[in-house]
Amino acid sequence: MTDAEKPLDSNSLQAHVATELRLYDTASHAVSRFVPIVAGKVGIYVCGATVQSSPHIGHIRAAVAFDTVRRWLLRLGYDVTFVRNVTDIDDKILDKAAAAGQQWWERAYFYEREFTQAYDALGVLPPTYEPRATGHVSDMVELIGRIIDNGHGYVVRDEQGEPTGNVYFDVASWPQYGELTHQKQSGGANSVAGAPDEAAAVADRMGPSVDAAGDDKYNPVDLADASPDKHDVRDFALWKAPKPSDPQTARWSTPFGTGRPGWHIECSAMSHRYLGRMFDIHGGGLDLRFPHHENEMAQTKAAGWNSAARWMHSAWVTAKGEKMSKSLGNGLSVPAVLAQDSPWVVRYALGSVQYRSMLEWSDQTLAEARSAFERISNFIERAGAALAGTALADGILATDALASNGQPSLEEVTAVSADDLPADFVTAMNDDINVSGAVAAIFTTIRSGNTLLAALAAGPAKGSTTGSTTAETENLRAALLSVRAMLDTLGLDPLAEPWAGDAGNGSAAAGAGVSEHKALDTLITEQLDARAQARKAKDFAKADAIRDALNAAGITIEDGPQGSTWSLA
Ligand SMILES: [Zn+2]
Repeated sequence: MTDAEKPLDSNSLQAHVATELRLYDTASHAVSRFVPIVAGKVGIYVCGATVQSSPHIGHIRAAVAFDTVRRWLLRLGYDVTFVRNVTDIDDKILDKAAAAGQQWWERAYFYEREFTQAYDALGVLPPTYEPRATGHVSDMVELIGRIIDNGHGYVVRDEQGEPTGNVYFDVASWPQYGELTHQKQSGGANSVAGAPDEAAAVADRMGPSVDAAGDDKYNPVDLADASPDKHDVRDFALWKAPKPSDPQTARWSTPFGTGRPGWHIECSAMSHRYLGRMFDIHGGGLDLRFPHHENEMAQTKAAGWNSAARWMHSAWVTAKGEKMSKSLGNGLSVPAVLAQDSPWVVRYALGSVQYRSMLEWSDQTLAEARSAFERISNFIERAGAALAGTALADGILATDALASNGQPSLEEVTAVSADDLPADFVTAMNDDINVSGAVAAIFTTIRSGNTLLAALAAGPAKGSTTGSTTAETENLRAALLSVRAMLDTLGLDPLAEPWAGDAGNGSAAAGAGVSEHKALDTLITEQLDARAQARKAKDFAKADAIRDALNAAGITIEDGPQGSTWSLA
């Protein structure tokens, strides 16, 4: 075997603290040590969107939650394969497309792009693979064949013995059914004792959907579900005969009749296709536990394949204590939320609460996120400026600091190993991705960084040597690198993509987004002050000339009772 043929010893790339990661598992109702199936690698499958309408923050909260899990695994040194599917055919897509006079794929592609834009805007890393259900019909047909051959599925036939297109999973043939969500307590030797976690208990009380009942594929009102052909009420559709209203383009011929996929089969087919044996984690929103994930687990195992070793579910967003649903209107669609606040602030609001906790969305949530942004960006800018050797004058960055902003490069930030991050941050993240503890650790480092900044601004104390200032500078640099690496782990480094625009290569460019805004603000504020003075002195020609010059540069001025504000046109 040559060196090139030798398998990569992934363990050597891993942080020592990777062995201390503990994650919750829905099936066992317990937090346990995470051990990958293949050393050094992690395979994750997360149920993605049904692309029938615009994304709302409930969808994006789940995406941010699993993005944070993925980023922590990457920081621990794992090679992560992250799969998130797109459900591009289902009853809702077909019905809504028909109502709107669209082709079903036209609607699906349109909303798929909206989801992608929302993920990108909020800094959710693109998946390694993003398969569409309609691209995997042959995989689904093969899988259904295996389930039937293994005696766990049955084809419904008409009076002539011809297959109708309806195929059901035979729940009675699968005694393990219910092992994920414990909907039925078997009490068998392998059952895990212990009370269900609070989030799961709430989910069971509130019903299984982010959206209103019957309004999505996981809680459907469908003819196939109510079919008298089912052997058992618990049986669920693997393949569905077409409804009379289904267009010809939404029908596939199979050995068990013409039709289209059932509600759960796509995820079993695609997780197996892209992860195979390396199926460490299956994620999704809490509302998908039952029936979607319970059915998925049964299908996959009944086909003789490995199901996920661990199941993780993110809780949902509540507004005034109630589960978010479409009945609350469009105010919580991603574009509506982003019209009010910056994407960074929205990501922070969505991502700074542990994934298993309900997230209450309110003015207070956003106010806290804005205040966090102020404290974080203020420290990063001041620390960068101080490190660039620039004095701070009245809190405004001098020109030198813009040219060389004193920031560690993005490469440096992403290269920091979890082993080198503050212990309280690592402990929190290893404790089932406890992001609120992790955020507290970031602010602890910022506080000590601010103390160092104050000491540097005060200059060397009498009688001290330059050596102590050098030590303080070194400590400040370490604190800045640490803060940015911790933020990056949460997808919140303000100088990284997507917050810093297209700048992604090198420190000066990476800092440009924040620094440029600051520089512009300084220059424009000066012009606005001059304009205010001119108006006060009734020199309206001068005031107008200043406004026109700003307008010509693409800057819009708004006059209000608190003075004038600016924005880029
Ligand atoms: Zn799924």
